[in-house]
Amino acid sequence: MKWQWTHAEQFYERVDHLGLHGLHFQHVTLCERRAWMYLHGINFAHWYGRVEIGIAKHRSSYARDHSVNGLMGLAPDRIDWNERIVYENKGTAGAADASDNQTAFYAVMLSIATGKQWRAITHVLSTRRQREVSLDPDRLESLWHASERLAALARLETVPPAKRIRLCKTCSLAGFCGFD
Ligand code: SF4
Repeated sequence: MKWQWTHAEQFYERVDHLGLHGLHFQHVTLCERRAWMYLHGINFAHWYGRVEIGIAKHRSSYARDHSVNGLMGLAPDRIDWNERIVYENKGTAGAADASDNQTAFYAVMLSIATGKQWRAITHVLSTRRQREVSLDPDRLESLWHASERLAALARLETVPPAKRIRLCKTCSLAGFCGFD
């Protein structure tokens, strides 16, 4: 049976038009200012050691799997093409909803592209546990809402307001926001 979602076509067009990928969906779930910065190509990772260390750990823990070679525009960590499962690696189990939105985004895009239902699994490296992310109506609604917020943020010409949140302690933009 063909996989169906009311917003599939509009979602796909929006993603294509704005050049969105998984991290946009993670960022917008965490903090709209962070998502705005990312959408507008403002990135302080090069001078922020914590991010560089994180990237190095991620790369050395799990080199990019060959299963994702040739995937244009999507960057999940691993794909099981036979079982139709997409995996995304995360260092810790924190910010689960944001991480799961990223993983679900890949599964939704593959489901739209192939017309078949894909499964999404977040793999937590620190605990070696896997968390299945169901593409249920709530998750689909969350992704749809996130895409609407991203479209609005892409149109916004000034930095959106932000409040200090727990994430600020480890965010590469904390210096800019004055929340470090
Ligand atoms: S420092 Fe905090 S408010 Fe600023 S972008 Fe990061 S998470 Fe958002």
